[in-house]
Amino acid sequence: MIVSGRAKVAAVIGWPVAHSRSPLIHGHWLETYAIDGAYVPLAVRPEHFAAAFRTLPKLGFVGANITVPHKEAALREADAVDPIARRIGAANTAIVEGDRIRVTNTDAPGFLASLADGAPDWRPAAGAALVIGAGGAARAVVTALIDAGVPEVLVSNRTDARAAGLVRDFGRPAQALPWAERTGALGQIRLLVNASSAGLKGGTALDLAFDRIEPETIVADLVYDPLATPLLQGARARGCTTIDGLGMLLYQARADFKAWFGVEPAITEALRQRVIADIERARG
Ligand code: NAP
Repeated sequence: MIVSGRAKVAAVIGWPVAHSRSPLIHGHWLETYAIDGAYVPLAVRPEHFAAAFRTLPKLGFVGANITVPHKEAALREADAVDPIARRIGAANTAIVEGDRIRVTNTDAPGFLASLADGAPDWRPAAGAALVIGAGGAARAVVTALIDAGVPEVLVSNRTDARAAGLVRDFGRPAQALPWAERTGALGQIRLLVNASSAGLKGGTALDLAFDRIEPETIVADLVYDPLATPLLQGARARGCTTIDGLGMLLYQARADFKAWFGVEPAITEALRQRVIADIERARG
């Protein structure tokens, strides 16, 4: 794609960054909407993050995605931090405003948008949710569910102390559920979210009795490689509505694209298939 000297430029900053699908997603939209812009991967070592991040306004970038391992450092380096990023404790998006950098977190609204898309009949007030995991992704999902009005958000993590720490930060309606009790809770929840890395390609599947999931429970998995995780396969076999992790990735990217390039792009089947093909190609 040819860009002019006036092109708006955004980036993704990570270490490593080669695995990121964001250049493909934003590149697809820049192409689709014939926008004079570019989106580039920047592989930045942790010790260079602060300097590289502070350079964004000087180089004329409109913004950047911030990915592992810089999501917490971005909070410290930014001139302004949106309340949602502060509550989650991590930023995934930077927006350049003049010579200042504001950071936010679009993972939480991205998750909710993906849920609304995949399970339009879900109502937050319908009942309890169980979130598996206690890392940055779980914090984003818990924030989203609390803000949406879910009456009880149970958090269960392989390392119980981390779930307890997360719940201490958020307070009610978040509650820690001991890892040993996760299966027992499956009968009482309306929404199950795997926000842990279990199920990622090459790793171990989530250790959960899939056959105890109620058919009425909506099941979401944040893992998108593979797209059909063992959890989603097990839930589909039970007749559950399932939401894969690609939706959250695309919806958070949509909010970022709008902030940087001024167009709210469409999430189309063609884009989904392009990302899926890329995931499959990388797997070999
Ligand atoms: P993280 O901070 O490294 O946390 C990983 C979490 O997974 C921890 O709670 C860890 O438990 C748990 N875990 C790891 N292996 C496990 C296993 N075998 N069984 C049970 N729990 C296990 O990672 P993160 O940033 O929160 O990301 C978590 C997942 O979400 C990743 O797969 C990431 O790719 C995905 N994600 C997807 C999107 C999207 O847009 N779809 C966005 C963000 C993240 P311990 O505390 O016991 O180690």
